[in-house]
Amino acid sequence: TAPFDIQTIRAQFPAVQQDSDHPIVYLDSAATAQKPLAMIQTLDHYYRGQSANVHRGSHQLTASLTQRFEQARETVRQFIHARSPKEIIWTRGATEALNLIAQTFARSTLQPGDEILVSELEHHANIVPWQIVAEQTGAKVVKLPMLPDCTLDMAAFHQRLTARTRIVAVAHVTNVSGTRNPVETMIKAAHAKGAIVVVDGAQGIVHEAVDVQAMDADFYVFSGHKLFGPSGLGVLYGKQALLEAMPPWHGGGKMVEKVSFDGTQFTGLPGKFEAGTPNISGVIAFAATLHWLSSIDRPGAEAHIQHLCQLAIKGIEDIEGLRIIGQQPDTSLFSFVVDGIHHQDIATLLDQQGVTLRAGNHCAHPMLDALGLTGTLRVSFALYNTEEDVACFVAALHKACDLL
Ligand code: PMP
Repeated sequence: TAPFDIQTIRAQFPAVQQDSDHPIVYLDSAATAQKPLAMIQTLDHYYRGQSANVHRGSHQLTASLTQRFEQARETVRQFIHARSPKEIIWTRGATEALNLIAQTFARSTLQPGDEILVSELEHHANIVPWQIVAEQTGAKVVKLPMLPDCTLDMAAFHQRLTARTRIVAVAHVTNVSGTRNPVETMIKAAHAKGAIVVVDGAQGIVHEAVDVQAMDADFYVFSGHKLFGPSGLGVLYGKQALLEAMPPWHGGGKMVEKVSFDGTQFTGLPGKFEAGTPNISGVIAFAATLHWLSSIDRPGAEAHIQHLCQLAIKGIEDIEGLRIIGQQPDTSLFSFVVDGIHHQDIATLLDQQGVTLRAGNHCAHPMLDALGLTGTLRVSFALYNTEEDVACFVAALHKACDLL
């Protein structure tokens, strides 16, 4: 692997190369990342060529596409070091994967009085599905609080993790403050109490090589679009024994062996959870993305991004009333507020200067409530950002705060 080189990387991303008098400085990669040529070309090739369905029919087109589709599953298996491709389920995104776990695993196993321990810093996608299934089963959602520095209250974790806890739901990395949670410690402790752990990896997998076996997560979910892949595609990883014991969720084609009015026999993994025509183009384009990502110096890229993050913080910390939310981030994103100025006003002025970032609650109302905030500004870098991007952002923010 060649050492990380920003110009080589940027050459792979048409979106950051557009020549214009007003280039956009894109600092919102945690909302969705820009896409590399490898993925764009795969999509283009698929739609220009002859389309076919997968796992249906016997003609050559469908056979070769089915093979690529299943190879993509194997690519994801390797990328997260799962034991078997049967443990990789395609979904529409992290959100759908979490809902699938809630409506199959949780709904079929939870009893009244059982508890689901959910951290306070979760994205709504890792809160609401648990509330819905708690309502359906009589189980209870228990809050795992966070501390003012956006780390989890681990003393409370050990207290609230009891014999009643069946499920622990936690983000690998928060999408608001960039804080990494001690998921390995939590998984060990949860397993010792007989609970299973659902790790929301939507943000975490962007920043580090994930090994689901080493982590020992029972479920690990993520979305393609935040990892430079297509939108509308996500991954549910689950331990095979758990997935096998779970009932199917969506019913339809491909998830069955035999259908009759006397009853239906479901197919095995992974098809059991993949009813209907899947996102074929997305799956093969995502595999191309992952091949590309595996070919670059990811630790070098992450070091570059963290350097940009530190540089940005240094450049803005002298602004009066500015507060960085949480600890110094150990990933590539951070949130801040400027006391006395509404986040949306700042975002608007930054946008007018060509700097794109996210202002709002980041789909994490409970976390924002705990911080006593209604919104933050979030800066999220990716491997295609440059020191010039940081300089533009720093200058634009100073100008905006001077004006407001
Ligand atoms: N969890 C986290 C931590 C996220 O950052 C996101 C996306 N912002 C999600 C879940 C939901 O992902 P999606 O909308 O792609 O399903």
